[in-house]
Amino acid sequence: MTDFSIGVDLGGTNLRIAAVSSDGELLEKVTLGTKVVLGRDHVINEMCDAIQRLSAKYSASGKFLGAGIGVPGIIDMPTGMLRKSANLPGWEEYPVRAEIERHLNARVVLENDANVAALGEQWLGAARGVPNMAVVTLGTGIGGGIVLGGKIWHGMNGMAGEFGHVTVEPEGWQCGCGSHGCAEQYASASAIMRMAREAIASGEARSFAQAATSDPEFGAKSIYNLAIQGDENARRIFRSFGRYLGILLADLVNVLNLDMFVIGGGVSSAWDAFAPNMFEELRERSLVYAATAPKDPLSAKSPEEEGASAQTESRGERKTVITRALLGSDAGLYGAARAPVLAG
Ligand SMILES: [Zn+2]
Repeated sequence: MTDFSIGVDLGGTNLRIAAVSSDGELLEKVTLGTKVVLGRDHVINEMCDAIQRLSAKYSASGKFLGAGIGVPGIIDMPTGMLRKSANLPGWEEYPVRAEIERHLNARVVLENDANVAALGEQWLGAARGVPNMAVVTLGTGIGGGIVLGGKIWHGMNGMAGEFGHVTVEPEGWQCGCGSHGCAEQYASASAIMRMAREAIASGEARSFAQAATSDPEFGAKSIYNLAIQGDENARRIFRSFGRYLGILLADLVNVLNLDMFVIGGGVSSAWDAFAPNMFEELRERSLVYAATAPKDPLSAKSPEEEGASAQTESRGERKTVITRALLGSDAGLYGAARAPVLAG
């Protein structure tokens, strides 16, 4: 018998669904062509059909433990409703969890996408075996999730871990949340592009202007490519990015004193361009980090090895490990599958 659950990633343009055994083995993963733009009811129907297909298929060999759904936005856990979601217009103030439970007649857990990504990395990724950790997801914005004792720390109603809206610059750039100077205005893909546009407008960065006209997909990745080729304007952008990410992490380390902070999301692949400044700033601003930093935080070892060796570096002396995520976009799928198991 292999008990299993189903995880759903409702994040991007496609809908991804995975059946995962209770010991973390991927049984099947499907990507539906369902377009989120076709609207809430269409998406919910297609999602429920696919969950039912998978649960029927694997119920022959094990018990279906429920479905977890990772959604981009602020969720009210007690009611199972979305309070705010930029990517899912029309889903707010609608009983999402109750509707899906009614369709499936099974336990359904609705979670913030960054929270399930944190749970996935803790269960099967970079922080496997590390009970207390947090994930900082660097994408268009910044997401965050905290796992304590192997479970998501929800706060009062599921809104904990909004790391992207921690202030890093009191009089800084306006943020979509209504505040200004938020971390995601300084250390995200959007922030990289804002800095690139500023550099183009100032007339300083001719290499950016050239890339912008010749590359139809000119974006944060193009700036990263220029940085690793030694372009000084691009390198300056990643130094600033690393510095602000370091300020955010210093606050998180000071407050939470967790064993591990995992840096995920698409922009984390630019690690070598921003990490040196990130660690420098972190060490300067966090007395907790300075007291618990591994000897060589940037060492080239794989994140899993680094985590293990840092925790055993000196017997009894625990280290704060800051490392890259391992599961990529699957972290959220695995974490979403894990959520209903923990809730039960
Ligand atoms: Zn904000």
